[in-house]
Amino acid sequence: MPVWIIEEKCTGCGLCLRACPYGGVEVEDKMARLTDRCTHCGACLDSCKFEALASDLGAEPTPDFSAWRGVWVVAEGRDGELHPVSQELLGEARRLAADLGEDVAAVLMGRSVKSLAEDLVARGADTVYVAEHDELEPYRTLPFTRVLAGLIAEHRPNIVLVGATPQGRDLAPRLSRRLDLGLTADCTQLGIDREEGGRLLQTRPAFGGNVMATIVSPKSRPQMATVRPGVMAALEADPGRSGRVVEVDVRLDPLDLALTIRSVAEAGRRTVNLSQAKTIIAGGRGVGGADGFQMLFDLARVLGAEVGGTRVAVEEGWLPVERQIGQTGQSVSPELYIAVGISGAVQHRAGIMGARYIVAINRDATAPIFEVADYALVGDAAKIVPALIRLAGQEG
Ligand SMILES: Cc1cc2nc3c(=O)[nH]c(=O)nc-3n(C[C@H](O)[C@H](O)[C@H](O)COP(=O)(O)OP(=O)(O)OC[C@H]3O[C@@H](n4cnc5c(N)ncnc54)[C@H](O)[C@@H]3O)c2cc1C
Repeated sequence: MPVWIIEEKCTGCGLCLRACPYGGVEVEDKMARLTDRCTHCGACLDSCKFEALASDLGAEPTPDFSAWRGVWVVAEGRDGELHPVSQELLGEARRLAADLGEDVAAVLMGRSVKSLAEDLVARGADTVYVAEHDELEPYRTLPFTRVLAGLIAEHRPNIVLVGATPQGRDLAPRLSRRLDLGLTADCTQLGIDREEGGRLLQTRPAFGGNVMATIVSPKSRPQMATVRPGVMAALEADPGRSGRVVEVDVRLDPLDLALTIRSVAEAGRRTVNLSQAKTIIAGGRGVGGADGFQMLFDLARVLGAEVGGTRVAVEEGWLPVERQIGQTGQSVSPELYIAVGISGAVQHRAGIMGARYIVAINRDATAPIFEVADYALVGDAAKIVPALIRLAGQEG
């Protein structure tokens, strides 16, 4: 058991109780006791002033990872087009690689995808590994895992970034299991901890979105994270960039092909892609109802914008679910985000951190949305929005 209490030293002061996020400690008769909820995470260890908590956590030495170098992006492309999240991840990979003094590589898998390699180089890849094979189209978990796991074993990248698309959400956990790696899903921010030998800091909402947790993977390489579309900023394509394109010899095992896809049916297409919108008007409970949202659509029309909203707006039936923004909706990064009648709950804010400018309209001057807004309009949305429509109409 990695965490235990040394009874002779425990005073029952309760400091460990406060340090535990899981309710894994209780104090009875001036003695701390671990409960069934203890996960042995070690969060309590530093809280004890009496050295009454002990652990064999950390007894295992951290392996030497100096041979693991490079920031990789698992790219997605189909029908001659790169998925926007691949371009965004390359932008982020360049920033991380610059901090580490390492290179950026992209991995492209599919039947006939080589034509996309140039775009990946233009967007920031120094090397593109292209794995082409008839069995890599359409996507299936096992063949993709085989190819990627093989490349990782051969080249030993330090970091692997995967888009949190339906494909990425399927592939990354399987790879994590196959290679026994840590994986942090749906990161909203990535960084490098220079003091700790360049570890990847993977930040994401945790505990129902009430805190932002920064997670590290100290005992395994590569460090792997998924990021949703629209969260990171892509770099402008630079057609003058040069990079290496390496063709991968794809060898699959018959077991990888155990699953046969007989046909692929297109799901009803999303009519709205908020992650790529330049201007978004988003509404919340304060918009007051479907009529209020009609006003937002009118404003969106004159501004050439898209309309989104909070979970409350979706639950009330004022907006379809594909327009929800936030932790359990879409992440967006428009130039301009106008939040109308939105309080600014942490779960909503998690989806708008990439917005360049935020304008908030709220009748409550103390609403948390104003903490992140660049411009604050305090007042009744029912009066301010029509005034904006008139103004935009005159300008336009
Ligand atoms: C696990 C989990 C996941 C979640 N995921 C998401 C998510 O993805 N996206 C999301 O949005 N939420 C999410 N939520 C819900 C989130 O916690 C909030 O409840 C929600 O964002 C609040 O929506 P709101 O701002 O529309 O409503 P409220 O919080 O009720 O705010 C309404 C605001 O409107 C203002 N207002 C009222 N009348 C007017 C008026 N006439 N003019 C101007 N302002 C007015 C009020 O002052 C208030 O600030 C999640 C919650 C959980 C627990």
